[in-house]
Amino acid sequence: MSDETIAAIATATGVGGIGIIRVSGKESQKVASIILGTVPKDRYALYTKFRKLNSQIIDEGIALFFNGPNSFTGEDVLELQCHGGAVILDILLKEILSLDFVRMARPGEFSERAFLNGKIDLTQAEAIADLINASTEQAALSAVNSLQGNFSGLINQLNEQLIKLRTYVEATIDFPDESIDFIEDGKVHEGFIDLIEKLEKILETAKQGVILKEGLKIVISGRPNAGKSSLLNALCEKECAIVTDIEGTTRDILRENINIDGMPLHIIDTAGLREHTSNIVEKIGIERAWNEIIQANRILFVIDVSKINTDDSYDKQLELFKLIASKTENKIPFSIIANKIDLSPNYTLPKELTAYPIIEISAKDLTGLDTLRNHLKECAGYKNTSNGVFSARRRHVVSLEKALDHLNNGFDLFKTSQDLVLAAEEMREAQQNLNEILGKFTADDLLNEIFNTFCIGK
Ligand code: GDP
Repeated sequence: MSDETIAAIATATGVGGIGIIRVSGKESQKVASIILGTVPKDRYALYTKFRKLNSQIIDEGIALFFNGPNSFTGEDVLELQCHGGAVILDILLKEILSLDFVRMARPGEFSERAFLNGKIDLTQAEAIADLINASTEQAALSAVNSLQGNFSGLINQLNEQLIKLRTYVEATIDFPDESIDFIEDGKVHEGFIDLIEKLEKILETAKQGVILKEGLKIVISGRPNAGKSSLLNALCEKECAIVTDIEGTTRDILRENINIDGMPLHIIDTAGLREHTSNIVEKIGIERAWNEIIQANRILFVIDVSKINTDDSYDKQLELFKLIASKTENKIPFSIIANKIDLSPNYTLPKELTAYPIIEISAKDLTGLDTLRNHLKECAGYKNTSNGVFSARRRHVVSLEKALDHLNNGFDLFKTSQDLVLAAEEMREAQQNLNEILGKFTADDLLNEIFNTFCIGK
């Protein structure tokens, strides 16, 4: 338990009905005595005056005291609910911080203490941040699921099962002469299969959780006038980009965050990628566009089908496509958006493009938009149900994947050569990976990285 007592404003900055200051640590009682003149009864709301050290009244409101360990952080916690004006909160916080036994809390420090004092595990701490930052209802609900311990509960179950299986294997190694027949009676074999199946299921759900949290980064690119801005507007269902028939009108990057059935999509409409331009503003726009493209999860390459076979635009569209494919080293998946089918319903795409998923649309009369939305969901591996989905982060997915690899290796070793020592080692590593998720034996720098992304007061 940390020795220092910390304080911070826990509510968002700005004006509100109430604002809350939170104090946590062993001197919280002292802070209460000084600011309130009394320590409120444990868990009872006390309507009281808040005073400066010189007894001048700053505000009045509700004070709550939680005796540790029955508090959010596990330490003594004082919460002061005063009027939600930035100045009032600042004066009160300043007064508390003027006490030499209290210091300002770092971002996420209350949650970090809750974790370090065993009140929550690491996935729950992360779920708090995810809940606060959730951009869709589904993302919020899945964060609540994790906060309730549903995710860590599953990991704990896996862990217990894995420990049992390890015990069988290690007992067989340690006591080879005893007549332990776990191996013969197929218990270990079945145990491996069951564990691997469960782990695969959790991994799939965790991946859904990551999609809900992070969404997909989509770049819309294509030749000037292909209809990129129109597509962006159609997907956003509002006018966010300027649509004109003058080439190179989109001079900078436009970003929009939308969601399709709760899946966040970060859409970026890039500057008309004109390869040769003397316009300096447009040149900068093009440079930025390339930076965005190489970071995307998927590129929607918009083709104006009405231009195919009509002029040199056909070659130019293909040329641009090849340029993007080579600049991204073919690492980012493409979807071809065949736009303006209202003008040319009977078009033929160049054969170079037919190997990619092709979605026909008219950004003008909005045909094909639902097909495109479903296509994007499919590409992300997104399922419509958020039932049982818990919020998860990339680091969870990585640890689950590693655990799965180790378990599969262990199972292979067990099946093929019956090398039990190596199999047991793989199982030990898998267990280590599961423990990383919950924050058991987690390196300090990882903890810093996680809690630094929190807001102050949380
Ligand atoms: P960008 O330069 O690629 O962003 O293209 P814009 O979205 O600005 O569109 C260029 C022109 O094509 C505008 O006049 C649009 O109204 C028109 N346009 C875009 N999509 C369609 C479509 O599906 N059908 C028709 N007929 N015109 C379209």
